[in-house]
Amino acid sequence: MERAALGIDIGGTSIKFGIVSPEGRLIRHHSLITKSNRDDIIATIKSGAREFLGSKHIDEYNIEHIGMGSPGAVNVESGVMFGVSANIPGWSGTNLKEIVREFGLPTHVDNDANAALCGELSVGAGRNYEHVIYVTIGTGVGGGIAIDNKVHHGANYSASEIGHTIIHRNGRKCGCGKRGCMEQYASVTGMMKTAKAILMKKQTGALWKLCDGQIEDLKPEDVTREFVNGDPAAVEIIERQASALAEGIAPAISLLNPELLIIGGAITDAGQEYFKALTDKIGKSAYPESHEKMRVVKAKLGGKAGVVGAAFLRWV
Ligand SMILES: [Zn+2]
Repeated sequence: MERAALGIDIGGTSIKFGIVSPEGRLIRHHSLITKSNRDDIIATIKSGAREFLGSKHIDEYNIEHIGMGSPGAVNVESGVMFGVSANIPGWSGTNLKEIVREFGLPTHVDNDANAALCGELSVGAGRNYEHVIYVTIGTGVGGGIAIDNKVHHGANYSASEIGHTIIHRNGRKCGCGKRGCMEQYASVTGMMKTAKAILMKKQTGALWKLCDGQIEDLKPEDVTREFVNGDPAAVEIIERQASALAEGIAPAISLLNPELLIIGGAITDAGQEYFKALTDKIGKSAYPESHEKMRVVKAKLGGKAGVVGAAFLRWV
């Protein structure tokens, strides 16, 4: 029988399930739409897990454990998720381990970005690195920190909140209650707000033409594509995103002196020019010796980072 684990990635829009091999191969996977209330989400996780663990084809695999990643802070010992999780109202206080207790398998839970970091460290871009900062650019900005090849959780499982480094005093309001957090400028949501402001001012160029002035119709991939094509408005939008990310992440780099910075999410479609701009901007904000040996790379696991990473919460 082949060794495997069940990885579950709980997100604001979908819950992903995957049977993962110790080499990081996603043997089988599926995803279910996330419902809006807590009880429905719990029922969805149970039925999704049951579908896999009860399937007759699963006999070929020895499922060693369940790993689960969730937004918010997660007490990895008790399994209770707590704190702000804007995407899933009412999710705070849920015991994640309890949800899958009926399957009788050892269960490991963590914050979703920490889980993705575990995947990158084990079978992704972070292999053979010990001091790593992982940042994922999505609806928000998720972060994970590895010190001596171990995920750093902090005193209250709330370390690595890099997205909430304040870069503009009195800036845009953030879901955490503060103002001017980096996430408000460097996340995809934040970037699209910047796009709107820039395009309303310019009212010209490829992006403006593409949406015919209906900026709400633009997608993040339109911005990254036109950045690669050199459209001036797209270049300005992505440059601003990179500046915000660099400014927000620089204090963590000066503090931790990582050897590797892994960037995940759709922004990486902006390609090598983006990575070059980001590296230059970090150079302007971080302590010189803290970043001079640091490489900035694209996450390797892509969209499957959450589910593969969840499986590696135990194998790491
Ligand atoms: Zn914030």
